[in-house]
Amino acid sequence: MDGPENRAAAERPSETSTPPPDPLFEQHLREALNEAQYRAVTADEGPHLVIAGAGTGKTRALTHRVAWLVQRGIRPESILLLTFTRRASQEMLRRATGLLDERCRRVSGGTFHSFANLILRRYAERLDFHPRFTILDRTDAVDLVGIVRSEAGYAGQGKRFPRSDTLVDLFSKHVNTQAPFTDLLEQDMPQFLDDLGAIEDLFGRYRRRKQEQNVLDYDDLLLLLRDLLRHHTEVRQELAARYRHVLVDEFQDTNRLQAHISALLASVHRNIMAVGDDAQSIYGFRGATVRNILDFSKIFPGAEITKLEQNYRSTQPILDLGNGVLRSAKEGIGKELFSDLDEGEIPTLVRTPDDHGQAEFVARRILELREEGVPLSEIAVLARAAWHTAELELELQQRNIPFRKFGGIRFVEAAHIKDVCALLKLTANPFDGPAWFRALQLLEGIGPKTARAITDHVIERDGDVRVLVQPKLTSRRYGNELSSLSDLLQRASADSVGVSARLEQVLDAYSPWMERKYDDANQRRNDFDSLAVIAGRYAEVESFLADLAIDPPDFGRGGPSDDQEDEWVTLSTVHSAKGLEWHAVFILQMNAGRFPSFQSLGKEADYEEERRLLYVAVTRAKRYLYLMKPEEVGNRYRSYEVGELSPLLGDIRDLRSLVSEHVHVPGQELLQGDATVPAHDDSAQLQRIEDYFAD
Ligand code: ATP
Ligand code: MG
Repeated sequence: MDGPENRAAAERPSETSTPPPDPLFEQHLREALNEAQYRAVTADEGPHLVIAGAGTGKTRALTHRVAWLVQRGIRPESILLLTFTRRASQEMLRRATGLLDERCRRVSGGTFHSFANLILRRYAERLDFHPRFTILDRTDAVDLVGIVRSEAGYAGQGKRFPRSDTLVDLFSKHVNTQAPFTDLLEQDMPQFLDDLGAIEDLFGRYRRRKQEQNVLDYDDLLLLLRDLLRHHTEVRQELAARYRHVLVDEFQDTNRLQAHISALLASVHRNIMAVGDDAQSIYGFRGATVRNILDFSKIFPGAEITKLEQNYRSTQPILDLGNGVLRSAKEGIGKELFSDLDEGEIPTLVRTPDDHGQAEFVARRILELREEGVPLSEIAVLARAAWHTAELELELQQRNIPFRKFGGIRFVEAAHIKDVCALLKLTANPFDGPAWFRALQLLEGIGPKTARAITDHVIERDGDVRVLVQPKLTSRRYGNELSSLSDLLQRASADSVGVSARLEQVLDAYSPWMERKYDDANQRRNDFDSLAVIAGRYAEVESFLADLAIDPPDFGRGGPSDDQEDEWVTLSTVHSAKGLEWHAVFILQMNAGRFPSFQSLGKEADYEEERRLLYVAVTRAKRYLYLMKPEEVGNRYRSYEVGELSPLLGDIRDLRSLVSEHVHVPGQELLQGDATVPAHDDSAQLQRIEDYFAD
């Protein structure tokens, strides 16, 4: 039955033939969805916004919509599912496949950045770019801004001038929010208002330099895609024909450019479904804006709007606390989550003497939960900042509790991985200045100044690596190493060399440089196995590098080669826990200056974002929720300070009725404070003592 003709017929776009609804599938939808969800999932073409609180099934509705569209005969490739992480879209497509069939795997899914990367390579030439561009991550961007900043002579004039990383953040905010530099400076750094002219000049230089070097930073990906869609009608029409349905999850965390891109993608057919929750907007610091949700109907007049009310994730006591967090918000969001799951333990506020007591409680409670039959994969420990979990990681290791950590410093940001990526980038794009700058400094005797000079020299000669072996360079003391680098790049850049082989050649050459640079080279080498596993999945080095830069694999401690354990506890920043859920959730360090972050104290907008962040954290829990409050907290320097209770909790009216408080004394019973301690049989030890003292 499933011959090619049948498949082809099933995949024909809906405008030519719509297969009759499959009664079984239809029945499944009816059972799996509530009325409002069902309406959204089966809605006609046209703009549609689903706006609803945490855990009300927004993501579930999108997943079912994908399956529904495919079942209706829409070509899977013509559905574009945009999510916040690659992990999210893969998971959604896996589920859609389970709902319907393998066709759902062919749906186009990814993040805005990865989609932009794909499209820009296809149309690069129209924007005066070479399709083999490489991507600057934040560190590369800081390096490049540092170079133009010192060339332009703004650095080191004896007066304060923004540092390169400050400039990168400022440039990024300017691009993402499209606010003029004056406004941004006035808001955040009025001390640099005098430098406005210089800052604008540097922004221009940085832009030109990126173009010369055929590199794009993260923001360029969005900006150029937006411009491509905006100014090239034929491209917009082509893409509208290719992607007939645009679905966007977590719309509250899109920035203006992303909203603009979504709107342009749907400008021809208007088939866009966006889902989001204004109360969960937590990326304001990166330029995301809830206006995108609030103004949806202005961009798409007549848009259908669906609200989902019932939460299917958590018990009512957990939602009561979530509602309490929202009610204390400055701008009331007026949303109350409710659940059918009335029964359930009230969230516990656990006071411990210090970080160590916190770690001990969490680790022991995890073991208890496992005893009670909760798998480790259903347990998460969330923290405002990645470093807050340090003490707990030690404790978990000591107790042999496997865990994976998400968020914080990512695998690809580790210095040795960046070195390898720089070398690989040069095999794809010999104009990549920051990659040259980094790679050259691996060589003995080359510091930033020489690296800069050689970088300029190679780029002026069209990226021809043979200039590295010119006598004026080889006669220097770093000459031999330069020849090795030149050799490597000539060998590894050949188109015939596949991604894995290329990586292998780079790693061989890098080995002695790494041993010189890092004392712990051997330990770092372990990460290369993970890198090799990932590289093996790619046919082109550009896509491998682009994925590493844009949406790097987030496997935390361990990594794919360390995969013996398939059961592990999740340790995550709250930001990286977005959209996910666990049976039991611990939130660490509910202390002022930890959660909310110290930087947000006294700044209203930032503080309100912390509040939404706590709302996100609380609403990840299905059954058990523990808010941890060490009385003393360690800082980065390993000294202790007394910690006040988080004002985010303090702000909640009737907190006492929403949580139960428990004081944990390390070494004692966890929650049943007054439970009798089981008598320990010490007769053998007593006998030993008797024997010893007998004489
Ligand atoms: P968030 O705001 O955190 O992203 P969400 O609105 O996307 O949450 P989902 O993750 O889609 O919510 O759903 C939360 C949980 O509720 C999931 O386990 C989902 O399977 C379940 N769920 C959603 N709708 C229903 C339903 N109609 N019947 C049964 N379970 C449901
Ligand atoms: Mg969701």
